[in-house]
Amino acid sequence: MTEQYQHRARKRFGQNFLHDAGVIDRILRSINAREGDRVLEIGPGQGALTEGLLNSGAQLDVVELDKDLVPILNNQFAGRGNFSLHQGDALKFDFHTLGAEPGSLRVVGNLPYNISTPLIFHLLSNASLIRDMHFMLQKEVVERLAAGPGGGDWGRLSIMVQYHCRVVHLFNVGPGAFNPPPKVDSAIVRLVPHATLPHPAKDHRLLERVVREAFNQRRKTLRNTLKALLSSEAIEAAGVDGSLRPEQLDLAAFVRLADKLFEQPAAN
Ligand code: SAM
Repeated sequence: MTEQYQHRARKRFGQNFLHDAGVIDRILRSINAREGDRVLEIGPGQGALTEGLLNSGAQLDVVELDKDLVPILNNQFAGRGNFSLHQGDALKFDFHTLGAEPGSLRVVGNLPYNISTPLIFHLLSNASLIRDMHFMLQKEVVERLAAGPGGGDWGRLSIMVQYHCRVVHLFNVGPGAFNPPPKVDSAIVRLVPHATLPHPAKDHRLLERVVREAFNQRRKTLRNTLKALLSSEAIEAAGVDGSLRPEQLDLAAFVRLADKLFEQPAAN
Protein backbone atom coordinates (compact mmCIF):
# COMPACT_ATOMS: atom_id res chain seq x y z
CA MET A 1 0.00 0.00 0.00
CA THR A 2 1.46 3.42 -0.94
CA GLU A 3 1.78 6.27 1.54
CA GLN A 4 -1.18 8.22 0.12
CA TYR A 5 -3.53 5.28 0.84
CA GLN A 6 -2.69 4.92 4.54
CA HIS A 7 -5.92 4.71 6.51
CA ARG A 8 -6.50 5.22 10.23
CA ALA A 9 -9.17 2.96 11.72
CA ARG A 10 -12.30 4.93 12.68
CA LYS A 11 -14.21 4.01 15.80
CA ARG A 12 -17.49 5.47 14.58
CA PHE A 13 -17.50 3.04 11.65
CA GLY A 14 -16.69 0.12 13.96
CA GLN A 15 -13.37 -0.41 12.21
CA ASN A 16 -11.36 -3.30 13.61
CA PHE A 17 -9.40 -4.69 10.69
CA LEU A 18 -8.48 -8.37 10.56
CA HIS A 19 -4.74 -8.95 10.23
CA ASP A 20 -4.27 -12.55 11.43
CA ALA A 21 -3.63 -14.61 8.28
CA GLY A 22 -4.60 -17.87 10.04
CA VAL A 23 -7.98 -16.47 11.11
CA ILE A 24 -8.60 -14.94 7.68
CA ASP A 25 -7.86 -18.29 6.06
CA ARG A 26 -10.13 -20.17 8.48
CA ILE A 27 -13.01 -17.77 7.75
CA LEU A 28 -12.50 -18.12 3.99
CA ARG A 29 -12.45 -21.91 4.28
CA SER A 30 -15.72 -21.82 6.28
CA ILE A 31 -17.34 -19.68 3.58
CA ASN A 32 -15.87 -21.89 0.82
CA ALA A 33 -16.83 -19.53 -2.03
CA ARG A 34 -16.69 -21.05 -5.52
CA GLU A 35 -16.60 -19.83 -9.08
CA GLY A 36 -20.13 -18.89 -10.11
CA ASP A 37 -21.22 -17.97 -6.55
CA ARG A 38 -22.82 -14.56 -5.98
CA VAL A 39 -21.17 -13.12 -2.87
CA LEU A 40 -21.97 -9.85 -1.09
CA GLU A 41 -19.41 -8.59 1.41
CA ILE A 42 -20.60 -6.01 3.92
CA GLY A 43 -17.87 -3.65 5.15
CA PRO A 44 -14.79 -4.87 3.24
CA GLY A 45 -12.60 -2.32 5.06
CA GLN A 46 -9.07 -2.67 3.72
CA GLY A 47 -9.86 -5.92 1.95
CA ALA A 48 -8.73 -8.59 4.44
CA LEU A 49 -11.43 -11.03 3.30
CA THR A 50 -12.02 -9.46 -0.11
CA GLU A 51 -8.81 -10.72 -1.67
CA GLY A 52 -9.54 -14.39 -0.89
CA LEU A 53 -13.17 -14.04 -1.93
CA LEU A 54 -12.10 -12.65 -5.32
CA ASN A 55 -9.48 -15.38 -5.74
CA SER A 56 -12.25 -17.99 -5.40
CA GLY A 57 -13.65 -16.81 -8.74
CA ALA A 58 -16.98 -15.81 -7.18
CA GLN A 59 -18.79 -12.71 -8.44
CA LEU A 60 -18.25 -10.27 -5.54
CA ASP A 61 -20.19 -7.12 -4.64
CA VAL A 62 -18.98 -5.14 -1.64
CA VAL A 63 -20.81 -2.40 0.29
CA GLU A 64 -18.57 -0.02 2.24
CA LEU A 65 -19.77 3.06 4.12
CA ASP A 66 -16.44 4.83 4.64
CA LYS A 67 -15.67 6.99 1.56
CA ASP A 68 -11.99 7.12 2.49
CA LEU A 69 -11.70 3.36 1.95
CA VAL A 70 -13.02 3.55 -1.61
CA PRO A 71 -9.66 4.50 -3.22
CA ILE A 72 -7.87 1.85 -1.15
CA LEU A 73 -10.28 -0.85 -2.30
CA ASN A 74 -10.33 0.35 -5.91
CA ASN A 75 -6.54 0.55 -5.97
CA GLN A 76 -6.34 -3.11 -4.99
CA PHE A 77 -9.31 -4.65 -6.71
CA ALA A 78 -10.88 -2.45 -9.41
CA GLY A 79 -8.95 -4.32 -12.10
CA ARG A 80 -10.65 -7.61 -11.21
CA GLY A 81 -13.53 -8.48 -13.50
CA ASN A 82 -15.48 -10.12 -10.67
CA PHE A 83 -15.39 -7.07 -8.32
CA SER A 84 -18.09 -4.38 -7.86
CA LEU A 85 -17.91 -1.71 -5.18
CA HIS A 86 -20.95 0.10 -3.79
CA GLN A 87 -20.21 3.01 -1.49
CA GLY A 88 -23.03 3.45 1.01
CA ASP A 89 -24.82 2.22 4.10
CA ALA A 90 -25.55 -1.53 4.10
CA LEU A 91 -28.57 -0.84 6.35
CA LYS A 92 -30.16 1.10 3.48
CA PHE A 93 -28.90 -1.07 0.65
CA ASP A 94 -31.55 -2.63 -1.59
CA PHE A 95 -30.24 -6.17 -2.11
CA HIS A 96 -32.60 -6.69 -5.06
CA THR A 97 -30.53 -4.24 -7.14
CA LEU A 98 -27.80 -6.90 -7.31
CA GLY A 99 -29.98 -8.99 -9.61
CA ALA A 100 -29.05 -12.26 -7.88
CA GLU A 101 -31.28 -15.30 -8.41
CA PRO A 102 -33.61 -16.10 -5.47
CA GLY A 103 -31.82 -18.25 -2.90
CA SER A 104 -28.39 -17.59 -4.40
CA LEU A 105 -26.85 -14.67 -2.53
CA ARG A 106 -24.04 -15.53 -0.12
CA VAL A 107 -23.57 -12.68 2.37
CA VAL A 108 -20.37 -12.32 4.36
CA GLY A 109 -18.86 -9.71 6.63
CA ASN A 110 -16.76 -8.88 9.60
CA LEU A 111 -19.50 -6.60 10.81
CA PRO A 112 -19.25 -3.39 12.76
CA TYR A 113 -20.72 -4.42 16.10
CA ASN A 114 -22.98 -1.38 16.41
CA ILE A 115 -24.99 -2.30 13.30
CA SER A 116 -24.91 -6.10 13.47
CA THR A 117 -28.41 -6.68 14.87
CA PRO A 118 -30.29 -4.18 12.64
CA LEU A 119 -28.31 -5.44 9.64
CA ILE A 120 -29.25 -9.07 10.33
CA PHE A 121 -32.92 -8.02 10.55
CA HIS A 122 -32.57 -6.02 7.31
CA LEU A 123 -31.09 -9.11 5.61
CA LEU A 124 -33.78 -11.39 7.02
CA SER A 125 -36.43 -9.21 5.42
CA ASN A 126 -34.77 -10.30 2.14
CA ALA A 127 -34.27 -13.92 3.24
CA SER A 128 -35.71 -15.34 0.01
CA LEU A 129 -32.70 -13.93 -1.90
CA ILE A 130 -30.14 -15.47 0.41
CA ARG A 131 -28.39 -18.83 0.29
CA ASP A 132 -26.30 -18.34 3.43
CA MET A 133 -24.58 -15.74 5.60
CA HIS A 134 -21.25 -15.84 7.42
CA PHE A 135 -20.57 -13.09 9.91
CA MET A 136 -17.97 -12.12 12.44
CA LEU A 137 -19.90 -10.76 15.41
CA GLN A 138 -19.39 -10.06 19.06
CA LYS A 139 -19.19 -13.50 20.73
CA GLU A 140 -22.11 -12.70 23.07
CA VAL A 141 -24.30 -11.93 20.06
CA VAL A 142 -23.41 -15.26 18.41
CA GLU A 143 -24.25 -17.03 21.68
CA ARG A 144 -27.66 -15.35 21.68
CA LEU A 145 -28.24 -16.21 18.01
CA ALA A 146 -27.42 -19.88 18.58
CA ALA A 147 -29.11 -20.25 22.00
CA GLY A 148 -31.90 -22.69 22.78
CA PRO A 149 -34.80 -22.14 25.18
CA GLY A 150 -34.27 -22.28 28.92
CA GLY A 151 -31.31 -19.95 29.42
CA GLY A 152 -30.52 -16.28 29.66
CA ASP A 153 -29.24 -16.06 26.06
CA TRP A 154 -32.61 -17.13 24.60
CA GLY A 155 -34.55 -14.03 23.59
CA ARG A 156 -35.93 -11.89 20.78
CA LEU A 157 -32.78 -12.18 18.65
CA SER A 158 -32.54 -15.99 18.95
CA ILE A 159 -36.22 -16.50 18.20
CA MET A 160 -36.60 -14.12 15.27
CA VAL A 161 -33.38 -15.32 13.62
CA GLN A 162 -34.13 -19.02 14.20
CA TYR A 163 -37.61 -18.46 12.77
CA HIS A 164 -35.87 -17.79 9.42
CA CYS A 165 -32.53 -19.57 9.68
CA ARG A 166 -30.50 -22.48 10.89
CA VAL A 167 -27.75 -21.03 13.09
CA VAL A 168 -24.26 -22.53 13.48
CA HIS A 169 -21.70 -21.04 15.88
CA LEU A 170 -18.51 -21.93 13.98
CA PHE A 171 -15.57 -20.68 16.07
CA ASN A 172 -14.37 -17.91 18.35
CA VAL A 173 -11.78 -15.24 17.52
CA GLY A 174 -9.77 -13.34 20.14
CA PRO A 175 -9.10 -9.58 20.06
CA GLY A 176 -5.48 -10.09 18.91
CA ALA A 177 -6.64 -11.01 15.38
CA PHE A 178 -7.69 -7.39 14.78
CA ASN A 179 -6.06 -4.02 14.45
CA PRO A 180 -6.96 -2.19 16.60
CA PRO A 181 -8.03 -5.00 18.95
CA PRO A 182 -11.67 -4.72 20.10
CA LYS A 183 -12.49 -4.88 23.81
CA VAL A 184 -14.65 -8.00 23.36
CA ASP A 185 -14.27 -11.53 22.01
CA SER A 186 -15.69 -12.29 18.58
CA ALA A 187 -17.08 -15.35 16.86
CA ILE A 188 -17.98 -16.54 13.39
CA VAL A 189 -21.56 -17.58 12.80
CA ARG A 190 -23.24 -19.24 9.80
CA LEU A 191 -26.93 -18.46 9.14
CA VAL A 192 -28.74 -20.56 6.55
CA PRO A 193 -32.30 -19.49 5.66
CA HIS A 194 -34.73 -22.42 5.88
CA ALA A 195 -35.98 -23.63 2.49
CA THR A 196 -39.34 -24.14 4.21
CA LEU A 197 -40.07 -22.42 7.51
CA PRO A 198 -40.31 -25.13 10.22
CA HIS A 199 -42.85 -23.10 12.25
CA PRO A 200 -44.55 -20.60 9.92
CA ALA A 201 -46.65 -17.95 11.67
CA LYS A 202 -49.92 -16.77 10.12
CA ASP A 203 -48.61 -13.21 10.43
CA HIS A 204 -44.92 -12.70 10.98
CA ARG A 205 -45.49 -9.20 12.46
CA LEU A 206 -47.66 -10.66 15.20
CA LEU A 207 -44.90 -13.10 16.12
CA GLU A 208 -42.53 -10.13 16.44
CA ARG A 209 -45.07 -8.36 18.63
CA VAL A 210 -45.66 -11.31 20.96
CA VAL A 211 -41.94 -11.98 21.32
CA ARG A 212 -41.15 -8.30 21.96
CA GLU A 213 -43.88 -7.99 24.60
CA ALA A 214 -42.95 -11.27 26.27
CA PHE A 215 -39.26 -10.39 26.63
CA ASN A 216 -39.84 -6.78 27.65
CA GLN A 217 -40.02 -8.11 31.19
CA ARG A 218 -38.35 -11.48 31.02
CA ARG A 219 -38.66 -12.26 34.73
CA LYS A 220 -42.45 -12.04 34.68
CA THR A 221 -44.90 -14.77 33.74
CA LEU A 222 -46.40 -14.83 30.25
CA ARG A 223 -49.86 -14.35 31.71
CA ASN A 224 -48.60 -11.03 33.07
CA THR A 225 -46.50 -9.72 30.19
CA LEU A 226 -48.97 -10.70 27.47
CA LYS A 227 -52.00 -9.38 29.35
CA ALA A 228 -52.59 -6.56 26.86
CA LEU A 229 -52.55 -8.98 23.91
CA LEU A 230 -53.95 -12.33 25.07
CA SER A 231 -56.19 -13.46 27.92
CA SER A 232 -55.11 -16.31 30.23
CA GLU A 233 -57.69 -18.47 28.47
CA ALA A 234 -56.26 -17.64 25.04
CA ILE A 235 -52.75 -18.47 26.25
CA GLU A 236 -53.93 -21.83 27.60
CA ALA A 237 -55.89 -22.46 24.37
CA ALA A 238 -52.61 -22.02 22.47
CA GLY A 239 -51.26 -24.92 24.51
CA VAL A 240 -48.99 -22.67 26.59
CA ASP A 241 -48.73 -22.63 30.38
CA GLY A 242 -49.28 -18.97 31.33
CA SER A 243 -47.31 -19.34 34.54
CA LEU A 244 -44.07 -19.90 32.60
CA ARG A 245 -41.54 -17.17 31.90
CA PRO A 246 -40.74 -16.27 28.27
CA GLU A 247 -37.31 -17.88 28.28
CA GLN A 248 -38.94 -21.27 28.95
CA LEU A 249 -40.89 -21.25 25.66
CA ASP A 250 -39.59 -22.61 22.37
CA LEU A 251 -40.15 -21.07 18.93
CA ALA A 252 -43.14 -23.32 18.16
CA ALA A 253 -44.92 -22.11 21.32
CA PHE A 254 -44.35 -18.45 20.42
CA VAL A 255 -45.77 -19.14 16.96
CA ARG A 256 -48.88 -20.73 18.54
CA LEU A 257 -49.34 -17.60 20.67
CA ALA A 258 -48.94 -15.35 17.61
CA ASP A 259 -51.48 -17.44 15.69
CA LYS A 260 -53.90 -17.18 18.62
CA LEU A 261 -53.49 -13.41 18.46
CA PHE A 262 -54.14 -13.58 14.70
CA GLU A 263 -57.55 -15.15 15.44
CA GLN A 264 -58.51 -12.08 17.46
CA PRO A 265 -59.94 -9.62 14.89
CA ALA A 266 -58.68 -6.52 16.74
CA ALA A 267 -55.06 -7.62 16.45
CA ASN A 268 -54.81 -7.41 12.66
N1 SAM B 1 -13.81 -6.64 6.50
C1 SAM B 1 -12.73 -5.83 7.05
C2 SAM B 1 -11.82 -6.70 7.88
O1 SAM B 1 -12.25 -7.82 8.21
O2 SAM B 1 -10.71 -6.28 8.17
C3 SAM B 1 -13.27 -4.66 7.89
C4 SAM B 1 -14.10 -5.01 9.08
S1 SAM B 1 -14.53 -3.67 10.14
C5 SAM B 1 -14.96 -4.53 11.62
C6 SAM B 1 -16.15 -3.14 9.60
C7 SAM B 1 -16.22 -2.46 8.24
O3 SAM B 1 -17.58 -2.09 7.97
C8 SAM B 1 -15.43 -1.17 8.15
O4 SAM B 1 -14.74 -1.13 6.94
C9 SAM B 1 -16.50 -0.06 8.19
O5 SAM B 1 -16.11 1.13 7.52
C10 SAM B 1 -17.65 -0.75 7.49
N2 SAM B 1 -18.99 -0.23 7.85
C11 SAM B 1 -19.38 0.34 9.02
N3 SAM B 1 -20.69 0.65 9.00
C12 SAM B 1 -21.13 0.25 7.78
C13 SAM B 1 -22.40 0.32 7.13
N4 SAM B 1 -23.48 0.83 7.76
N5 SAM B 1 -22.51 -0.14 5.85
C14 SAM B 1 -21.42 -0.66 5.21
N6 SAM B 1 -20.19 -0.75 5.77
C15 SAM B 1 -20.05 -0.29 7.02
